[in-house]
Amino acid sequence: MDSKPHVNTDPRRDIPSVHRLAERVCSEESAIAPWAAIEGARRVVERARDGLSQGLAAKDCLAASPEKWVERAAAEARQLSQPRPQRVVNATGVVLHTNLGRARMAQGAAEAAAEAAAQYSDLELDLESGERGDRLQGVGQRLALLSGAPAAFACNNCAAAVLLALNTLASGREVIVSRGELVEIGGSFRVPEIMQRAGVRLVEVGSTNRTHPRDYEDAIGPETALLLKVHRSNFEVTGFVAEVDLGALVEIGARHGVPVMEDLGSASLLDLTPHGFPEEAYAPARLALGPDLICFSGDKLMGGPQAGLVLGSAEVVQAMRSNPLARALRADKMTLAALDWTLCALLEGRGPEALPLLRQLLAAPESIEARAKALRARLADGIPAEAASLGVHRERVPVGGGSLPGFELESWAVVIRADCGAEALAARLRAAPVPVVARVREEAVWIDLRTVEPEETSIVCAALIAAFH
Ligand SMILES: *Cc1c(COP(=O)(O)O)cnc(C)c1O
Repeated sequence: MDSKPHVNTDPRRDIPSVHRLAERVCSEESAIAPWAAIEGARRVVERARDGLSQGLAAKDCLAASPEKWVERAAAEARQLSQPRPQRVVNATGVVLHTNLGRARMAQGAAEAAAEAAAQYSDLELDLESGERGDRLQGVGQRLALLSGAPAAFACNNCAAAVLLALNTLASGREVIVSRGELVEIGGSFRVPEIMQRAGVRLVEVGSTNRTHPRDYEDAIGPETALLLKVHRSNFEVTGFVAEVDLGALVEIGARHGVPVMEDLGSASLLDLTPHGFPEEAYAPARLALGPDLICFSGDKLMGGPQAGLVLGSAEVVQAMRSNPLARALRADKMTLAALDWTLCALLEGRGPEALPLLRQLLAAPESIEARAKALRARLADGIPAEAASLGVHRERVPVGGGSLPGFELESWAVVIRADCGAEALAARLRAAPVPVVARVREEAVWIDLRTVEPEETSIVCAALIAAFH
């Protein structure tokens, strides 16, 4: 009845209708598309209903005014409309940041991918003969030329390369691996599980910390198809440890006529040892130790698109190509175009200038320090002195992305101690028009300039100044 006092009315009545709320969102923000406005409104309404039915207080579930309902729904709709993935600035100093998409491709590689996507191409056509062509011919040749490998192969990613290699070389037979290398790389790539899915039988040898040549020798039998070495990409084992290095494993394999494979994970096609990087990161140096094949990712230290790259004997590569699984794991035309561009840049000796990954990896600490100081000066003009203290500090950052565990680069960061707290400031930076991702350490926000390109400094500067206003 109408005479019912207002305090007794069902609070659910104060929840607007999805339809009307969506209409208001659209009429107030023309940039929001109807689909996003409707879904945004639906989520806001549903959340309020759920809250009430769980017995939460009305004031905690309902917006205070019609305008506030529109604000809530519009915020949700804006979130839904964001492209995913969207661009961010990486201010962590970690060059291969897995959560931020690992290696950035070179501009030229990205353009080659866009061209391959938007136009027809001779992907599988031989223009000279007019006959069917080979989609991997270009990258296969360039990889072989760059690395000195007899043959090369590319597929979707390194996990796919491992799966395909195991299935090709050892399906239904035994593969020997050290217990110290039965690793999980992250993102659910676990060596024992991949082996199971590849249809091979895992034979574990040695112990977590120590494996000796005789452990492999003792395990080799008539069913042995492969000796596998897996790079421990994301951790180090120190103390009372022993492992059989790749060269020794190759000797054992040769004595028993068993092929040897190394899953390197992350490797470069440019020799970085003159810059102080470990030799294990240089793919041709690993190959020179004599395994039948090695595989690694395209978007780790190689600095290209996501891909699984295999270098090895012509026989092994041919067998992998003929495996029906190769079709399911193949690289698409955009990847191949970007990879081809990247390999050409390396062949021409332009890697360090052309590839963002190499540029950032090889940047001199002094130049990073100078840029950090310049950024601090700009920030000091825009951030009220009482709201934050600004310093410039040296730090050491890992390379990231499951590359070079234990190896760190010297870098420099602007360190901001804010009144509002480091976590709150980091959250504001992530909410900026171009989100800026920084590290929080020692109750401060660290903006490491190694991974911020010079042309991105203004974005970082604007986001930081806006965070204090
Ligand atoms: C990163 C990594 C992989 C997986 O590579 P993706 O390209 O991400 O599939 C496999 N093995 C090792 C040792 C790795 O470090």
